[in-house]
Amino acid sequence: MLDAPACFCYQCKTIIESVERLLFVEEETNRGFCSEECIEEFFRPLMEYYRDQSDSYRKKLNLDENVDALKIQFEQYFEDLFENPSEIWKLENDLGEALYFMSSQAGKDGPYLIALVTLFSGSVSFVYFTSISYNLEFLNFFRVGTKIEELEKVFKMRTNMEKELMEEFASDIEMIKSELLADLLMNHQETDIDAEKYSLYDRYMQVTMDGPDDAYRYPAKDGSELLSVIKAFEVEGKSFYYIVTCLIKSVNIDEDESEILIPVLGFPTVDGKLCSLYRKGTQVIGALRS
Ligand SMILES: [Zn+2]
Repeated sequence: MLDAPACFCYQCKTIIESVERLLFVEEETNRGFCSEECIEEFFRPLMEYYRDQSDSYRKKLNLDENVDALKIQFEQYFEDLFENPSEIWKLENDLGEALYFMSSQAGKDGPYLIALVTLFSGSVSFVYFTSISYNLEFLNFFRVGTKIEELEKVFKMRTNMEKELMEEFASDIEMIKSELLADLLMNHQETDIDAEKYSLYDRYMQVTMDGPDDAYRYPAKDGSELLSVIKAFEVEGKSFYYIVTCLIKSVNIDEDESEILIPVLGFPTVDGKLCSLYRKGTQVIGALRS
């Protein structure tokens, strides 16, 4: 008996038994992929296509900005761009496939941050291209298609409370983050997932937060409380852990003192040894490990 039409990876055509195991990065299409590698492989020609257009326009404007240096200098603003853009434009082709342009300014007088992305479930799911420039004409080059007037209709913006908390704890978050990153880099093995690829695993952050296998609470160097949540994944035969370390803060919500979790750093790893470094302090979720 013939099986029902099979689902398959859009890139490598591997047959996938269940649709839940496919990865989707676009709201508008049914293109599903078996792995992050196949997503990248599929979109690579388009990434080059957009980069070439941008490069030619830069040349035309005679912009002599050092894009790489600017990107590094304003790196922390990119994270904010992806979560809290000040504008989004939707560019659709004749097939209804869409590309989104988002931008915001780094600080008051800083450069414009530019990104071409796909959206899925109201979040950035794939990044084609990022750039940065002080030049307004260069920014305008990307403002094509339809400007989305009500961003929250297509995008999960941070709530006001989240924004306030981020501002209130910004310096704590920055400090903890740099400590966590330094620790991570010190223990990161060459055979492990490359740090440049971490953003491809961003989708696993929320899943890990929502249902971790185990979680541990311990004090940071400055005395503030941290929580590391860990979840094991198996995607198409490949296993990895996703680890999110959160800052625990006590806040007053409706006159009730409660603890909130602020995710500070999330990353994937295939290294069980690295993972075990986050299993310390008091275990608060999961089966006790011996
Ligand atoms: Zn594939």
